[in-house]
Amino acid sequence: MGKPTGFLEYPREETIERKPLQRLKDWKEYTEKQPEDMLKRQAARCMDCGTPFCHIGIEINGAASGCPINNLIPEWNDLVYRGKWKEALDRLLKTNNFPEFTGRVCPAPCEGSCTVELAGPAVTIKNIEKAIIDKGFENGWIQPRIPHKRTGKKIAIVGSGPAGLAAADQLNQAGHSVTVYERADKVGGLLTYGIPNMKLDKDVVERRVKLLRQEGIDFILNTEVGKDITSEELKNQFDSIILCTGAQKQRDLILQGREAEGVHFAMNYLTQATKRLLNIEVSEPLIDAEGKHVIVIGGGDTGADCVATALRQKCKSVVQFGKHPKLPDVRSDANMWPEQPNIFTMDYAYEEATAQYGHDPREYSVQTKKLVSDQNGRLKELHTVQMQRTSDDAGNLVFEEIPGSEKIWPADLVFIAIGFEGTELPVLKEFGVEHKNNKVDAKHGDYRTNIDGVFAAGDSRRGQSLIVWAIQEGRDCARQVDLSLMGSTVLP
Ligand SMILES: Cc1cc2nc3c(=O)[nH]c(=O)nc-3n(C[C@H](O)[C@H](O)[C@H](O)COP(=O)(O)OP(=O)(O)OC[C@H]3O[C@@H](n4cnc5c(N)ncnc54)[C@H](O)[C@@H]3O)c2cc1C
Ligand code: SF4
Repeated sequence: MGKPTGFLEYPREETIERKPLQRLKDWKEYTEKQPEDMLKRQAARCMDCGTPFCHIGIEINGAASGCPINNLIPEWNDLVYRGKWKEALDRLLKTNNFPEFTGRVCPAPCEGSCTVELAGPAVTIKNIEKAIIDKGFENGWIQPRIPHKRTGKKIAIVGSGPAGLAAADQLNQAGHSVTVYERADKVGGLLTYGIPNMKLDKDVVERRVKLLRQEGIDFILNTEVGKDITSEELKNQFDSIILCTGAQKQRDLILQGREAEGVHFAMNYLTQATKRLLNIEVSEPLIDAEGKHVIVIGGGDTGADCVATALRQKCKSVVQFGKHPKLPDVRSDANMWPEQPNIFTMDYAYEEATAQYGHDPREYSVQTKKLVSDQNGRLKELHTVQMQRTSDDAGNLVFEEIPGSEKIWPADLVFIAIGFEGTELPVLKEFGVEHKNNKVDAKHGDYRTNIDGVFAAGDSRRGQSLIVWAIQEGRDCARQVDLSLMGSTVLP
């Protein structure tokens, strides 16, 4: 343990960010490099708990509590406090293939379950994780690890998001020959086309992909399995196949006026914005928020990313509608430690919108009633009503419209960000893989589908989730594949 009295002596120091109005001028990451003395002070706050709830990685009420990949957090906190960065990196890489992704964009369930949170604000675990891996790259400690021996077994992975990449990394290190098929023109899944550059710089993703290529993983891009190559061809060429196709089937808004020109799925907008940033040709009609009134329907993180993107494109105004009421400032009695806190926070996008327009762009408990277009079919306004949450006679939660609360909003662009239905089914059909509720029917911890030699991991199995869960499933599934091919496994 670093400093026994650290948590009593030092307050939590929050992530240092670039000034909102400044960062709106570019697409670079919104956080700054955190000073080393601050990180050491924060590491000193760790109590090295006997039962470190930060790394338990269990689900309570459907949300992660503690780190799903069981990062050895107290160990690397202690090492950082003592200035032993290289040793901290060794510990970090034991459990996490890609800390440079989680250190930037994980919602950090580890912090929500940190024991210090019982008496005050948690240890800033995520910042410490990011600093360890960034230092690893800066100092040249991260080098390609080329496996010395090959087993002769061949594995195909469909989809190159964090689940596919984690599985590929593990299986390649176990000596198998791994080929990753990806329908997009770049590797990374939602790490590349989904999460905006200001949260996760695409150079950071590219740097990891380069390393994986150097280590021997083969990536085949612009190739949709089930369309450009059949399941039979894959089965003939490979000993095992892992489906890591994500859960990107977008939920649509069934509403009067939905067909208006100017209404788009959030993912199409975010993907296009990243392509434009990377100077990749966009074949679809341009979606640009410059000078436009933008409305984002959906109160989640994808919606927040749309707000931040529209601000950088210099929109005229932006609002984000959520159907739920504003969250409380502190945990409610139904959301106690060590659960992930379900409380009001100011995400980067909201800080930026507030700095730009003087108010938070979020509108709560809003129901969209209809979209109205002009005589040319172009969107011009959106009609809403305020909702209230009550309960019926049987005590069930019901949402009711508040009479007289109707409102008309000017709108040139609407982004639909109301979640994802699940994985795309054609590829599952192609393999004859069974599914339930738009998820591949395979058990967590086992990952086998009903088809021999075909496994599934990540969002395609779990439903739209988090990068850290995708990494957990990719690693764990790799272990099962190795076990099934070799009869025993060297993988954790
Ligand atoms: C806008 C947005 C922002 C997010 N922000 C965060 C965040 O800040 N933090 C966080 O932890 N999580 C975030 N998430 C969630 C996170 O990105 C996902 O949970 C994670 O990427 C899932 O990983 P995956 O590998 O299972 O699937 P994905 O990342 O979805 O990758 C699946 C890949 O499979 C490919 N594919 C699909 N079908 C085929 C086929 N037939 N042939 C070939 N390739 C195919 C797809 O093109 C895609 O590249 C965000 C999600 C979205 C949408
Ligand atoms: S729960 Fe918090 S204080 Fe305890 S070991 Fe983990 S990071 Fe340290």
